[in-house]
Amino acid sequence: MTTPWHDHPLARELDTALAAVREAGLLCREVQAAIDPGAMRKKDRSPVTVADYGSQALVCRALGAAFAHDPVIAEEDSAELREPRNAALLDQVVALVGGRAPGAGVDQVCAWIDRGNAHRHSARFWTLDPIDGTKGFLRGEQYAVGLALILDGQVACSALACPNLGPALDGDRGDGTVVVALRGRGAWQVPMATAGPAAAVRVSAQADPARIRFCESVEAAHSAHDKAALIAARLAIVAEPRRLDSMTKYAVVARGEAEAYLRLPRDARYREKIWDHAAGVLAVTEAGGRVTDVLGRELDFGQGSELGQNLGIVATNGAVHAPLLGAMRDLGVGGA
Ligand code: AMP
Ligand code: MG
Repeated sequence: MTTPWHDHPLARELDTALAAVREAGLLCREVQAAIDPGAMRKKDRSPVTVADYGSQALVCRALGAAFAHDPVIAEEDSAELREPRNAALLDQVVALVGGRAPGAGVDQVCAWIDRGNAHRHSARFWTLDPIDGTKGFLRGEQYAVGLALILDGQVACSALACPNLGPALDGDRGDGTVVVALRGRGAWQVPMATAGPAAAVRVSAQADPARIRFCESVEAAHSAHDKAALIAARLAIVAEPRRLDSMTKYAVVARGEAEAYLRLPRDARYREKIWDHAAGVLAVTEAGGRVTDVLGRELDFGQGSELGQNLGIVATNGAVHAPLLGAMRDLGVGGA
């Protein structure tokens, strides 16, 4: 099937990224389907740990095969997994990855995981969150696998797999969704688990601040819900915030199902991790939206593994960006 990006210079990068996050998303689904509700009650985190390492192994394997010299800044490395107390987890990861990469043993799987342990900025590198929204994964709600290529400090291409996101946010989960984007070319969605044509995605055209639908983290520790409520009151926003885990929030804004995603820092010292944002940011900007930090500054992906020069995130359809930033300024969000 011809893709809308087949003639682009980064077509092979995007095809590789899409295939990699699809495979990782399917692995995550397989683990999630087997989660025993009893284990959930005991707050057993082992399913997400296993899927997290398995996802990173598969994505780094695919990147290593296609682009052997590209560094990858990913969330995990195998050091902890290799500790004797984690032997049972390691066995599970190897078995799971082996199901999709026949013959892979412990050393091979750990080597794939550790392909992701670059830390420093370089002119060309990938960044990966093997499972973003681990709490959503454990609750059976939204989570994502996010992969992006950074060229000279800017996100150049991205693939964001949302295994529990169907064609519509509130409808059937269907086959899951991958949102892909290419800088300067556009953003599209494809079904995650089945072949299907790439459909262009576009942000909402809504410009009335009172009619903003906004998303925020489920976890109050990751974004100040109280400040978001003050902003909503100031702009007379009618709709309640939509709380979702993971970069799925960016997919929802890119598809026009919300006008904004607010990530308001609770602690001004926290620095956002690049893997938590890169893939989502390009999806929103290429769908016609805008993403800055809470002080209105452009995001700088040229600082290593953190957005060291930024504070929080505001991702919007563009039309409601200025009123949101204005309300934040008036309320002193971010200490401005
Ligand atoms: P979310 O699903 O949107 O709540 O975001 C999940 C991500 O939040 C994780 O991948 C973490 O990297 C990140 N995170 C951890 N602690 C914080 C914090 N204090 N503020 C903002 N994000 C955080
Ligand atoms: Mg994350």
